[in-house]
Order: sequence, then structure tokens, then C-alpha cells
Amino acid sequence: MPKADAPALQQGLFRFADDLGPEKILHVTEPGLGLHGILVVDNVAAGPSIGGCRIAPDVSVDECFRLARAMTLKNAAAGLPHGGGKSVIFGDPAMPDAEKERYIRAFARAIGDIRDYIIGPDMGTNEACMAWARDEIGRSVGLPREIGGIPLDEIGATGFGLAAAAEVAQEFCDVTLEGARVAVQGYGSVGRHAARFLAEKGAILVAASDSGGTIVNQAGLDLDALDALKRSGKSIVELKRGQKGDREAIIDVASDIWIPAARPDVIRADNVARLDTKLVLQGANIPVTAEAEQALHARGILSVPDFIANAGGVICAAVEYAGGTQTAAFQTIEEKLRINTREVLDAARESSISPREAAVAMAERRVRAAMSYRRAM
Ligand code: NAD
Repeated sequence: MPKADAPALQQGLFRFADDLGPEKILHVTEPGLGLHGILVVDNVAAGPSIGGCRIAPDVSVDECFRLARAMTLKNAAAGLPHGGGKSVIFGDPAMPDAEKERYIRAFARAIGDIRDYIIGPDMGTNEACMAWARDEIGRSVGLPREIGGIPLDEIGATGFGLAAAAEVAQEFCDVTLEGARVAVQGYGSVGRHAARFLAEKGAILVAASDSGGTIVNQAGLDLDALDALKRSGKSIVELKRGQKGDREAIIDVASDIWIPAARPDVIRADNVARLDTKLVLQGANIPVTAEAEQALHARGILSVPDFIANAGGVICAAVEYAGGTQTAAFQTIEEKLRINTREVLDAARESSISPREAAVAMAERRVRAAMSYRRAM
């Protein structure tokens, strides 16, 4: 199993700390099991934090903290009664289920007393993982349907929200969803549902990638065939029709809407100039670096920030936690995504700032308002 990056662990602790958080950072190790994990609870002014648990070989405290902060902003922007947190477990996300269950159960027991963190699914974890966590500590979100959950990845809550954000964003850039060419980096839970919901609005998926590479077809990729490949555990590059490339090739494909839906920092100062698109809809968390975000703004490419565009999943989780139904979840996602996307893009336009600057200002205002209601001592 890959070891945690020691310098990152040391440097990362307080590197980004500010008046909003983090509230606590917990390292979890179980030497007998080979388990190493991190939990960052960033800010709980609005209520117990909700944030996903990621299994990945290459995360750090820095990244976990940045993801936790993104959850603080996302939950505040969405007006949820929850703060932001995030957890990571070092390991191969494709490890056998039995090993994953041991990891998740041990990690859940270790964080059981941190009651202001509610664990949810993220890359490498799913509804079954959340059921194991709830079995251990009595709380989690993103549960299987059989035990009262609204399976957010199965129903495509985040992809649905991205499509709702796109519908509003098209009014702010030179894109019409009918006939829009879409490229999706990371054809997983978020990416494939975004493609499907956008297709329902008339858009065409012209390129997609996963960890195995990129597949391009300007006439449109067959979504059912892509889903069938993913279901059978294969890479989408095995699709029969389409030009194949390595996984970086997706960055160069001409599109109207480009959706990062895989890893953080995939668009950076060194590759942002390669993007040939009009609208970036951030499905992944922190997929665009601050420099790249500014470069997109300077080039007139509209970029809807992650914690606005991809809030569908956590809104669904919050509805589930509050005992709501799937129908209520979809309605809430649609309403919140539309209102917030418009508010952010209006503010950005009025003040001639980037959508990210407008979104951060809006979310921080809401976090500080929540903090003002807490006892000061
Ligand atoms: P997933 O594991 O279901 O899918 C990820 C996909 O990305 C897989 O197809 C994988 O092969 C691919 N991938 C991995 N590395 C890649 C690379 N370097 N290049 C291209 N493709 C690559 O994960 P997911 O749940 O869809 O989450 C994707 C991203 O969206 C993550 O950043 C996650 O934090 C974020 N997110 C997820 C949700 C949700 O509801 N699941 C909500 C908000 C944000």
C-alpha cells in the first residue's frame, strides 16, 4: 500500500488555516491493518459537517483540508444546516470489497466520537461503504435504498445539478444546450450522469475520458455503450466507434462545455491554454487551480466553480439525512442550483470579477453569518 507523503503531512497541518477553520484534523492509523487515514473538520457553524470519504493512493493533508474547505463553502452556499469536512483513506480505490469493508469499518470506529462529522461517499467509496460506516457508528449519508437512503450516485444527483447549472450558465455565455458539444473528463458517477442529463437537454457528448484514456467522436458518443463498458469494469476507450487518445487528450478536444469530473488540479497554469471550450462546469472538487481560473476568466471562458456546480450530491445527502424523499431531493437540487448559479454569475458580471471570486464571497458571507449565531466563548 502506498505510504502517506511525509513532508505533506508535516507541512500541511496549518498551511491554509484561517479564521474559518479547520476546526480539527485527525490522523488515523491502524498498523495491524495497514490503515492510514485523515479527517479534516473545517467549519461547523451551520451544523455538523458533511463531506465525502475518499480512498486514493495520492492524497495529502493539504488536499484533504482544501476539499474540506470546499465542503464548507458548498454547504454554506447551498444553505444547508451543515458545515464542511472531508476524510481520506490511503489505498487503492479498486481494492477488493472485503479489504475495503475492513478499512471503512476501522476508519468509522476511529472517527466515531467526532460527532460533528457525517461521513458520505466520494471517489473510491459508495453506498455499501456508507452502510458499513452507519453499522459501526450510527451515522452516515449516501446510504443504500434498502436502509432508507437516496443512492445519490445511482440516481445521478450531482450530474443532475450540473445540468441545472448549465441551463442557467448558457444565458451568460455563447452556448446553447441544444446541440452543445460536451467533453467529460472522468466518466464515473458524476461524469456519466452529467452527460446523460445534458443529453436530455439536447447536448451531445463528443469526448470522454477515464483513467484508461480518452475517446472522441464529434458525431456523438453512444452513452448506453459507454455505461455498459463501465459496468463491466472496462475503460471507455474500448468503445468501438471513436478516436482514441491518452487521458490527457481530452484537454485538447474542441467543445462548448468542458466538464472535469475526476481529480483535483487537472487544469493548471501549464495546460489551461490548451482548453478549447466556452463553458467549464466543475463537476470534480477543486479541479482548476487559482491561476488557471484567472486565465479562463481572462480568456472569456465562463467557469462555474465546483462548490456551486457540483452541490447536487451533498444537497441530496442533506435531504436524505433530514428524512426526505428522492423527489424532494431532485426538487431541492434544481431549485438551489438554479438560484445559486444565477446569483454567482450575476454578481461576477456586475462586479467584473471571476465567478469563483463571486462564489467565494457569497459562501464566506453565509459562513460568517452562521458563525455570528454561535456562542462566542
Ligand atoms: P468515480 O470514482 O465514480 O469516477 C471517477 C472517474 O474518473 C472514473 O471513471 C475514473 O476512471 C476517472 N479518472 C480517474 N483519474 C482520472 C484521470 N487522471 N483522467 C481521467 N479520468 C480519470 O468518482 P465520482 O463520484 O464521479 O467523483 C468524481 C469527482 O467529482 C471527484 O472529484 C469527487 O470529489 C467529485 N464529486 C463527486 C460527487 C458525487 O456525487 N459523487 C459530488 C461532488 C463532487
